[in-house]
Amino acid sequence: MTRTNTTRSQPTRLRLVTKRVEAGRRKVLYLDMDNVLVDFMSGVNACDARVRAKYAGRYDEIPGVFARMQPLEGALDAYRRLRMRFDTYIASTAPWENSSAWSDKRDWVERHLGRPARKRLILTHHKNLLRGDFIVDDRTKRGVDRFEGEHVHFGSRAFPDWKSVVEYLLARA
Ligand SMILES: [Mg+2]
Repeated sequence: MTRTNTTRSQPTRLRLVTKRVEAGRRKVLYLDMDNVLVDFMSGVNACDARVRAKYAGRYDEIPGVFARMQPLEGALDAYRRLRMRFDTYIASTAPWENSSAWSDKRDWVERHLGRPARKRLILTHHKNLLRGDFIVDDRTKRGVDRFEGEHVHFGSRAFPDWKSVVEYLLARA
């Protein structure tokens, strides 16, 4: 009686275990937000001229500016493809002088990358402490230059856009 059930459930259980093991073996990937997933200037340009003038040289301190930013071209599609193959996290830095940036970034991730992604958001000024295989970032600051894995330098000659980054990473997943 229960034998049939056991026999039936065995492959299902095996599949679940296999999936978990495979997930554990996935390489760890971090994606930066500003000028990588997010088009920073799209938010700045959405503010009126007086605000832009007031915050010249420190646009990241404009209250609410991060909520107005659009995804960078190709970023959402790249995220969807990469998260299927990598254990993917979003690693960003939020300015200390602009506390709305912290919640705006959290909301941005949920709005554009989906609800589960918000729990994969890491806000830190110390990206060197992150453990993993790859970090996609447009800068070497905030500890990126000391990241233990490989820095895929977004916007560099080798990686000018998401197409080149996705191609490179998927070949190494
Ligand atoms: Mg950046």
